[in-house]
Amino acid sequence: MATAFPDFSRLKPEGGKRSSKREQIVNVFLRQEGHLSADDLVDIIRREDQRISRATVYRTLQWMVDAGIARKVDFGEGRFRFEHSYRQPRHFHLICKNCHRSFEFLSSDIEALIEEVSGARAFTPSQSVVQIYGTCESCRTGRPASPTDSGHTDLVFARDALRIAIATERSGLEFYTRAAGLTKDARGRSVFERLAAEEGEHLGTLEKRYGELLAKDPQLESKPTFLFFKGAASGLFAEGAAKLREGVNDLQALLIGIKCERGSHKFFKRYGERFEDSEGKRIFLEFADEERAHLDLLISEYRALVERQNQRPAARVAVAKPRR
Ligand SMILES: [Zn+2]
Ligand SMILES: [Zn+2]
Repeated sequence: MATAFPDFSRLKPEGGKRSSKREQIVNVFLRQEGHLSADDLVDIIRREDQRISRATVYRTLQWMVDAGIARKVDFGEGRFRFEHSYRQPRHFHLICKNCHRSFEFLSSDIEALIEEVSGARAFTPSQSVVQIYGTCESCRTGRPASPTDSGHTDLVFARDALRIAIATERSGLEFYTRAAGLTKDARGRSVFERLAAEEGEHLGTLEKRYGELLAKDPQLESKPTFLFFKGAASGLFAEGAAKLREGVNDLQALLIGIKCERGSHKFFKRYGERFEDSEGKRIFLEFADEERAHLDLLISEYRALVERQNQRPAARVAVAKPRR
């Protein structure tokens, strides 16, 4: 797949001089995958062009870091490595102590924990580094590493974003189907039916998109997972669906739906905004918008039902934040 490179003139830091050598180095860097040391990059560059000095490569790497094209990572080897930061969300690393290869992942559960701990200590985190050292599969088993193991591409990222969006749609479809089945109020039931139909339709669209994505790369399906959104993948609506089983009334069913949609909207918006421009980002932001529309629909339905049931004052408190 062709990767669109960043607009260097826009990424140029203030006072930065634009030279063809620099462009050459940046282009070579962007063609590489994984985590390169400065010396790795020097070797690759010098193979292409003997005239470029080590100092120029070093200087350009630092410039790329300042310009947001590269990110410096420290795997505890006594030297830095550099990875792409353009179109790559911040992530965590598994690092093999034996072969020094590294494997990337991102986990919403780890991030939620970091936030929880920081929040409890009134600490404002600015950066978190999670590095897991150990032995990789190929070093452990002696089997050669598959080329699909290293790095992650835009495609893997989009694949994982679609997987979690699909899992959320599935749990949403189950939730709304069940809610429609147990709601006694005819209008409330029709709202749930409408939402179930929409989730079903979105699910179809997402699955089609997933199929199209897989068609671009026959190995895509078997590449290791990059985005670990464990809690979110099964939990955004699954918890709500389980609650419906306990036996709830129409208003409670709407409230549970509101809670699920709000959680889902926030989740996709938050990660979508954090990701660099990519297919994965677009999938998340589009999905966040859809969830927002569902949320609005449920809230207005909740209010209308409360009005019909003439329980207005108590209900307002439940939807809006209580005011002092
Ligand atoms: Zn290894
Ligand atoms: Zn990395």
